[in-house]
Amino acid sequence: SGAQKIYDEMAKLCENLDWVSVEMQKDVPHVGVVKTGCQGLCELGPLMKIEPYDYQYVHVQVEDCKEIVERTVMEGEPVTRLFYRDHDTVCPHPSDIPFLNQQTRIVLENCGNINAESIDEYIAVGGFQAMAKAFFDMTPQDVIDEVTKSGLRGRGGAGFPAGKKWSQVARQKEKVRYVVCNGDEGDPGAFMDGSVMEGDPYKMIEGMTIAAYAVGAENGYIYVRAEYPLSVKRLRMAIEQAEAYGLLGDNILGSGVNFHLHINRGAGAFVCGEGSALTASIEGKRGMPRVKPPRTVEKGLWEKPTVLNNVETYANVPKIILQGADWFRTIGTEGSPGTKTFSLTGAIENTGLIEVPMGTSLRHIIYDIGGGLKSGAAFKGVQIGGPSGGCLIEDQIDRPLDFDSVKSLDAIMGSGGLVVMDENTCMVEVARFFMNFTQRESCGKCVPCREGTKRMLEILEKIVDGKGEMSDLDELEELATMVQSMALCGLGKSAPLPVISTLKRFRDEYEEHIRDKK
Ligand code: SF4
Repeated sequence: SGAQKIYDEMAKLCENLDWVSVEMQKDVPHVGVVKTGCQGLCELGPLMKIEPYDYQYVHVQVEDCKEIVERTVMEGEPVTRLFYRDHDTVCPHPSDIPFLNQQTRIVLENCGNINAESIDEYIAVGGFQAMAKAFFDMTPQDVIDEVTKSGLRGRGGAGFPAGKKWSQVARQKEKVRYVVCNGDEGDPGAFMDGSVMEGDPYKMIEGMTIAAYAVGAENGYIYVRAEYPLSVKRLRMAIEQAEAYGLLGDNILGSGVNFHLHINRGAGAFVCGEGSALTASIEGKRGMPRVKPPRTVEKGLWEKPTVLNNVETYANVPKIILQGADWFRTIGTEGSPGTKTFSLTGAIENTGLIEVPMGTSLRHIIYDIGGGLKSGAAFKGVQIGGPSGGCLIEDQIDRPLDFDSVKSLDAIMGSGGLVVMDENTCMVEVARFFMNFTQRESCGKCVPCREGTKRMLEILEKIVDGKGEMSDLDELEELATMVQSMALCGLGKSAPLPVISTLKRFRDEYEEHIRDKK
């Protein structure tokens, strides 16, 4: 959005304040310009916050910078025309903006608020206190018990209880164990984990270190997708800074705990988000899923017991250790405690990054936080969980959103991508888009997925091109059932979901395409 140019301009103006009149310079405080991670309001960027006044400016342009420095920084008076407006209400502070004030931020609490390249800022807001508490006040078993009690479920999609996974690794006979973080966020429309790695890399590093202590691992790997160069850069900086402060490495803080963290860059293959493909890729092999069992907790990375969680899961851990499992359980639902981050995209007024308690309804997310549909168009559906997920329609968006309720609606939570579609969206085209994606990303190891997705895509393309037959719909359904039940890994098993859910809810659109044959 041009934020870099604005940063450069502000840095230039604030570095040399000679251009400001002498009277004004008298009381000039030290003025610093800091780059933060994502503040969440993508739609309103470039964004600028002015501290200590807590002003939030939106849609800032380079031409505004001089006025901002003169008025806000020198005089403490805001440039009111840069405030966000909610109809007739002016919103000077982040807490006035409906998009922000209806969220509960645990994972994202520091994103957009601290300099993501300064470990000092993270420490200043309480960073690494949870790690110290775990190391000095708790045994590894206490840590596992606390995480188990909290009910934290893996945020990568399946929602497997994190504490259970950790305890399965901890009880293996093999003493060499690994902790791995899945930062290979590949769903189209999802950017939550990328934003966390860019905006607050320290929190997930702290969470991983606590996990390593709990299961007795001395080495950990963060697997980041190649398309996230800024995440890689900031994670590298964070690891170096933590090592320099004795917060990573040998004998951390004199506790006797050793933990070394490494970064692996993925090469952009969606299938490498699958656990066994991801660990194979770290080992330098081709990223292909394998038959399970053995499971990753028994034989994961280099055939050793491995804890594999995603970015958001680890980022939840420090707060759970610090504030306790009971506190965590006060947020969210009984079966899915805590919050969930979502990337809100598509035909919606306020696109961006959000975090809400589990159990929040999609209606609240779309209309109250997201500001409703663009240009007042009618709502048609929302794709949840990316290409592995499903499409939910009007009468399903009032259900409390958690791992179990989404499953009961034939969809999956996935990692948290939400793509909102309006009345002008062709649902057959949506199904074709996602099938094209999964077909291209199929690793080709097993026939049902390799061939099945190809045949399904051919049929969908035929229908979109106006050359389909009614019998194609039966074949599509048959193939979908076959691929779903016989594919080897999650990618193949879930690939037909967008077709299944659109066929179920928008069959008339498929039929219309066929009737309007060219
Ligand atoms: Fe590869 Fe698809 Fe089989 Fe998974 S289901 S192993 S992605 S071919």
